[in-house]
Amino acid sequence: MKIGILGIQGAYHKHAEMLRSLGVEPLIIRYNAQLEEISALIIPGGESTAFSMQLSFRLDFEKVRDFALSHPVFGTCAGMIMLGKGDNDPRVRQLKLMDFTVLRNAYGAQTESFTAELDLTLNGEKSAFHGVFIRAPRIDSLGEKVKVLARHGTEPVMAEQGHFLAASFHPELSGDGRIHRYFIERITT
Ligand code: GLN
Repeated sequence: MKIGILGIQGAYHKHAEMLRSLGVEPLIIRYNAQLEEISALIIPGGESTAFSMQLSFRLDFEKVRDFALSHPVFGTCAGMIMLGKGDNDPRVRQLKLMDFTVLRNAYGAQTESFTAELDLTLNGEKSAFHGVFIRAPRIDSLGEKVKVLARHGTEPVMAEQGHFLAASFHPELSGDGRIHRYFIERITT
């Protein structure tokens, strides 16, 4: 099994390292045809405005969306923005696959990036997770079908809906593979 990581822009190398450390082969996705080689896709952090532009010429927006309709997809930070809906920046073309609305850069500028201990619930088990937030988006409203898997205080920061997973932080940067393992297990079971 190969997991693709959208590699047109942004923080894809750390996701690749994390997948390799968990015994899964990553494939950096830059062209439409590569989608046929993978079982699931990670949309990494980066810039959702840049992703939106790139998805109109290097990779096809509709092809990525079609892939996502039938395969697991995990979006982190900018990737979460892409999976959600309702961002009010006209430069961002969201895939609108998950039922939450999101606000870009809601915690402030790069210098206001922070880390925080999160309350994570995976497979019904609660634990702490060290979350890295870099110009992170904020979930603004959540639809009924969306399950919250992690919170920062009371605020939802990780969500699951069917075969989609989204986190407003960067789980690939904390040296803790539990969230990636959870994503992998959901593909294989
Ligand atoms: N602020 C970025 C955006 O709006 C996301 C930042 C990130 O992915 N670390 O797309």
